[in-house]
Amino acid sequence: MRLILLGPPGAGKGTQAKLLKEKFQIPQISTGDILRQAVKDNTELGARAKIVMDAGQLVPDNVVIDLIKDRIRQEDCKAGFILDGFPRNIAQAEKLSETLVEMNLRIDKVIDLEVSAEEVLNRLTGRSTCPECGAMFHHISRPPKVSGVCDGCGGRLEQRPDDNRETIQERLKVYMGSTAPLKEFYKKQENLKMVEAKGSVEEIFSNVCKMIDV
Ligand code: ADP
Ligand code: ZN
Repeated sequence: MRLILLGPPGAGKGTQAKLLKEKFQIPQISTGDILRQAVKDNTELGARAKIVMDAGQLVPDNVVIDLIKDRIRQEDCKAGFILDGFPRNIAQAEKLSETLVEMNLRIDKVIDLEVSAEEVLNRLTGRSTCPECGAMFHHISRPPKVSGVCDGCGGRLEQRPDDNRETIQERLKVYMGSTAPLKEFYKKQENLKMVEAKGSVEEIFSNVCKMIDV
């Protein structure tokens, strides 16, 4: 099973990807996570990516394309994978298609998680993540039992540096300009499925799964 998750920042791609990973036992490949890890590891790539990410812009295509090309050739991707946050524009999507043709593979479904810009702002400004286990919280919709502490592992919750109003607005602009056109791109390939990303995580997941089965 090879899947792409599309949708604006805050649509819940990461959350749904983690559930899909469990259900299908295939890796979640998040370019955002890979880049954030590079920032943490203080690599040269991380240092360059941080500036761009903190501004809400896209890191250069060749960087993420190389990351993805390497990643999907690894052994654990044999049974499939979930792309979360890649591709982000038409150029990345075209390169991905080329690579998949070379590998004799194809994408089974592209799931487009739809959510309004207003909802995105609400979700992202209140979001915090556990750096230890990846669990996500929201100060209104899913508050941790103890403020600032992960329910699951006791890790100290962090806010992403790009989850502030100004940067979120920039990320939304980039989404509208560069990423949203991918819906047309994948519609032409007839494997695009739309899911309204409203309601509980479980409800959304159940709708995502329905789309995968058709
Ligand atoms: P979100 O979808 O919530 O904005 P991500 O974790 O997917 O969060 O991405 C965070 C940032 O990482 C982006 O704003 C961008 O700077 C960078 N990034 C992630 N994926 C890509 C990609 N495919 N191409 C370019 N930049 C990317
Ligand atoms: Zn945790």
